[in-house]
Amino acid sequence: MDIIREMKKKVLETTLVSYDEGLFAGTSGNLSMCDPQREVVAITPSSIRYETMSEDDIMIIKMDGTVLEGAHRPSSEWRMHTAILRQRKDIGAVVHTHSPYATSFAVVGTPVPLILIEMLGFLGGDIPVADFELPGSLELGLSALNVLKNRNSCLLSNHGVLTIGSTIEQAHIRAVYVEDAAKIYSLALQAGSVRLVPEEAARKMRARLGISE
Ligand code: 13P
Ligand code: ZN
Repeated sequence: MDIIREMKKKVLETTLVSYDEGLFAGTSGNLSMCDPQREVVAITPSSIRYETMSEDDIMIIKMDGTVLEGAHRPSSEWRMHTAILRQRKDIGAVVHTHSPYATSFAVVGTPVPLILIEMLGFLGGDIPVADFELPGSLELGLSALNVLKNRNSCLLSNHGVLTIGSTIEQAHIRAVYVEDAAKIYSLALQAGSVRLVPEEAARKMRARLGISE
């Protein structure tokens, strides 16, 4: 299978799984991945219903937004996706959701702190909040990049969730994990007083994983 077809297939499959998982409602959310040469990007189309989305609906664009294949408009967030893919050569895919528990913290403007030891392995630590920028803007991508230094996920203020990964599968599983951590944090806040992962344990775990703070 040629690389473009394979990228479209992966983006569609991951998009449909994410939709079934409730990571976004209506036509919100968008996913992208770039080719190994980092020249082209497969990205979900803008405002197309997921129920009927097919491989041919996935758009192929250049890093400057030029449409190479597809009959729709690329996601309105293509500037955010390509800003991240251009700046982070270690990243091959970007997932943006509006998953409800995590987005509730994006609304409050509160990071999800390091409450679960697994957050270190999956997300690199806590889930920070990026400064508010308008949807569709390049600045939205830049504000996310600011807080994604040693992290694989962040909250977009008053908007949603962003995760990155070397593959789209990895970026997707991180988006699932963000929602899970946010849900658990929400329940824990109601259950009693929240205890963070002890600092010493976090330090040891970071050393084991080879990640910095
Ligand atoms: P698109 O349908 O254009 O991808 O927009 C959805 C969204 O989540 C905007 O932030
Ligand atoms: Zn959005």
